[in-house]
Amino acid sequence: MSSLEELSTQELQSLIDRARRILAERKEGNRPRVVDSFREGDARYLLEYVKCGRAVSGKCRRCREGELHGPYWYSYTWDGKKTVSKYHGKTRPGLAEVKENGNG
Ligand SMILES: [Zn+2]
Repeated sequence: MSSLEELSTQELQSLIDRARRILAERKEGNRPRVVDSFREGDARYLLEYVKCGRAVSGKCRRCREGELHGPYWYSYTWDGKKTVSKYHGKTRPGLAEVKENGNG
C-alpha cells in the first residue's frame, strides 16, 4: 500500500468519494448489497452482502455495525408463481470453474 501523499489530487478526491459512498451505504442499513451479478438461462445470480439470522436480535456485532456478511452468491429463478432464491455460498455458481481472486 503506497502512502497517500503519493496520490494525485484527483486520486485522493476519488478515494474520498468512494469512502463517502461506502459510509452512506452502511448507514442505510437493511437492504442487501449486490456487488456482482450475471444471468444464465432463466436464473439471475447475485453476489450479495447479507445480514445473518442474529441481526434482528442485535446479537451479532458485525450486523449491528453495518458490516454485513459475505458476499455470498444467491440465485433467483421464477417458478411461474414466485421467485425462488437459492444460497450458493462463496463459490461463484453456474459457470464452470471460475478462479477466485483471493481477497476474502
Ligand atoms: Zn451477523
